[in-house]
Amino acid sequence: MSSYHPIQHIPTPTTKRMVIVGGGFAGLTLALKMAKKRFQAVLIDRNNYHLFQPLLYQVAMSGLEPSAIAFPLRKVLQNSRIFFRLAELQEIQPQEKRIITDIGALQYDYLVLATGAKTNFFGNEAIARNAMQMKGAPDALFIRNRMLRNFEKSLNKERPEEISAYLNVAIIGGGPTGVELAGAVAEMRKYVLPKDYPELDMRRMKIMLFEASPRLLSGMSEEASATAGKYLHQLGVEVRTGTAVANYDERLLTLANGETIQVKNVIWAAGITSSKIAGLPDSSYGRGNRLLVNPFNEVEGSAGIFAIGDNCLLTEPAFPNGHPQVAQVALQQAALLAGNLIRLEKGLPRKPFRYKDKGSLATVGRHLAVADLPFGKFKGFFAWLLWSVVHLFSIVGVKNKLFVLLDWSWKYVTYDQALRLLIRHKGRV
Ligand SMILES: Cc1cc2nc3c(=O)[nH]c(=O)nc-3n(C[C@H](O)[C@H](O)[C@H](O)COP(=O)(O)OP(=O)(O)OC[C@H]3O[C@@H](n4cnc5c(N)ncnc54)[C@H](O)[C@@H]3O)c2cc1C
Repeated sequence: MSSYHPIQHIPTPTTKRMVIVGGGFAGLTLALKMAKKRFQAVLIDRNNYHLFQPLLYQVAMSGLEPSAIAFPLRKVLQNSRIFFRLAELQEIQPQEKRIITDIGALQYDYLVLATGAKTNFFGNEAIARNAMQMKGAPDALFIRNRMLRNFEKSLNKERPEEISAYLNVAIIGGGPTGVELAGAVAEMRKYVLPKDYPELDMRRMKIMLFEASPRLLSGMSEEASATAGKYLHQLGVEVRTGTAVANYDERLLTLANGETIQVKNVIWAAGITSSKIAGLPDSSYGRGNRLLVNPFNEVEGSAGIFAIGDNCLLTEPAFPNGHPQVAQVALQQAALLAGNLIRLEKGLPRKPFRYKDKGSLATVGRHLAVADLPFGKFKGFFAWLLWSVVHLFSIVGVKNKLFVLLDWSWKYVTYDQALRLLIRHKGRV
């Protein structure tokens, strides 16, 4: 007999129980596909909402409220017969087919890990402590609050270099997140801040984007990288590729070449890693702590345990280092696993995962975006329109879609980000 307190009010199933950990793109898609199927499905997440991470940067830049890109999991699951528990996975006991969470233990027949990834600071503790990150809704709100607060503080400084330090923004990491953020800050400097702070000379504010590798958007074509760099340059962003950042102490950013820059707003967007889960052997993990899975997304050496989305590493000839950690991969793996689990139950052969790359998009600002699609490469207005439509349609919930559309339309017409409210808990920021 186990001495673990069981998670309450989930009946002993008459069918097999599938426990899905993580209600992100992968976990939620799988859960919805398993609704009313021949399993008892239990979804566990440490947050009670599904988050649309691709638009987090707009929350950080006062363009959207977090509620526009987050959707309550219980609402999505209404009438689905799926059990939801707000809980954090702490350990897996594969021999007992049991997980331990902060609210109790739960037996499973199939376990699906869809726990995503977290920010990778590559062991640099000073940067982890002092820079801002953008992985969750609280992070985006923290960025918004701290930047607004620093702009306010700049008004009370005397020396020009001190004013600049409070206004300057450094973004580290030239992937889509860094590029999109840099563009959004630049538009804020161009359209909003001069009106909000007429006393300040906005020429004092530098927006810098650092990328250690030779080019921006390394997951996209060279053409897209060059165009994004050109757009950022047009918006007045100082782009420095081939430039690694070594340290940050809350005021002084130190580059690997020894150069220092005074800047109070530093956002780290230079990589992600997954979290190891107690109970699985070290041999289960590959690069970036991603779980090594076979073509059916089953964790190597752990029958009955699956991993999908950002936290798994599956190679195929076209992707020898694993798939990109993007939403499309998570959605496609979830859809395939749903079918494979049903096939498994029926004694039918499972289908291996093959990624269908539908292309990549990144936006820099109004009418400025790049798109690498299977049928061609696009830039400018068309790519921007495509980016907007794809993102709008991907957000969960009709109300959220409408709110985002409304905020975007307002911003488009007025050139204003309307949500510059400093709402914070006393003490921090
Ligand atoms: C700022 C940003 C911008 C992005 N932009 C794009 C983009 O433009 N296009 C694109 O395709 N991709 C983009 N991505 C990547 C995309 O969001 C991810 O690839 C996708 O979210 C992966 O889905 P997932 O389900 O694997 O993980 P997630 O969506 O991260 O979901 C993981 C879930 O697991 C939960 N969880 C984690 N650990 C535990 C635990 N121990 N116990 C319980 N619950 C847990 C989390 O709360 C979360 O709900 C972006 C990511 C970020 C951060």
